Amino acid sequence: MNAYEDCFQKAMILSWQKVIGSERSQFPSILQNSVDTHVRFAVQCHSPKMNECLFCRIIKGEIPSKIVFRNEFVLAFHDINPQAPVHLLVVPIKHVENLKDPKASDSSLLVPVFNAIREISDSFPISKGFRVVVNCGREGGQTVDHLHFHLLGGRPMSWPPG
Ligand code: AMP
Ligand code: ZN
Repeated sequence: MNAYEDCFQKAMILSWQKVIGSERSQFPSILQNSVDTHVRFAVQCHSPKMNECLFCRIIKGEIPSKIVFRNEFVLAFHDINPQAPVHLLVVPIKHVENLKDPKASDSSLLVPVFNAIREISDSFPISKGFRVVVNCGREGGQTVDHLHFHLLGGRPMSWPPG
């Protein structure tokens, strides 16, 4: 937990203790510690996990997404800010930062991604063609540090990309 998350949790605990302050005194003293423990637990459960990877949280279902494909190795979902009529993100389940991450050299990681792309492409109106884009690193345009493949289609693509 970083300092910001720590402060956030402490502030939430204090405000909850204020809310239940008058009620708390109605509990027998032997139960009052237990009330405090429950408050701390509830706050921990509901605190945002600010450090955790966005796509790992999508994979775990902690953040909603429009999922179109899932198997043991790969998840695919609609990009929240589509750049084409079809814009999906195809993501390995295993957390790998980007193509330069040594873990990405494992063929058991990349082969399932490309097989998923082939399979998914049959379910969308992109039979005339599509583009697969991987942004790597800041200058490559990567903004989410979990390896992902943009699958774009449904309109003619221009070249060179911006
Ligand atoms: P990149 O810039 O290559 O790292 O791509 C990251 C992509 O993730 C962008 O196209 C974003 O629109 C997309 N994105 C960010 N947050 C979400 C989200 N919660 N659900 C779906 N796509 C997202
Ligand atoms: Zn991740």
